[in-house]
Amino acid sequence: MSELKFCQGPNCHTYNTQDRVKGPQGNKTNQTRRRSSFYYGDDNFCSIACYNDWFREFGNQAIDHFGRTTEAKHLTEENAWVKGYRWDHRTDVCQHHYLNKITQEQRPLTEEQYNDNNYTLNN
Ligand SMILES: [Zn+2]
Repeated sequence: MSELKFCQGPNCHTYNTQDRVKGPQGNKTNQTRRRSSFYYGDDNFCSIACYNDWFREFGNQAIDHFGRTTEAKHLTEENAWVKGYRWDHRTDVCQHHYLNKITQEQRPLTEEQYNDNNYTLNN
């Protein structure tokens, strides 16, 4: 079994659900959810409510830390590359590619390049 981790929602323990009630008999408390995986926020939050709670509390700090968008970005041929994939049911192989959203040109990608967040054709 994979390791359990906690939901990162700052108020997770305040929501009343039966599965959050934990602890020894007579000393049970509402606790932050702990699971092997979560559906929301890149596997960090148990619910959209916890995801939104986190953003309300920390979102502005995170945006300021990583860089706030202060002017419009423009889509050009040079930055229009987006990663995609297509499952070929005949061969049972996943084909990864880069697609230019302006020129519609496609270029093949390896799965490693597809998963590498630093790999890009965009300038
Ligand atoms: Zn939660």
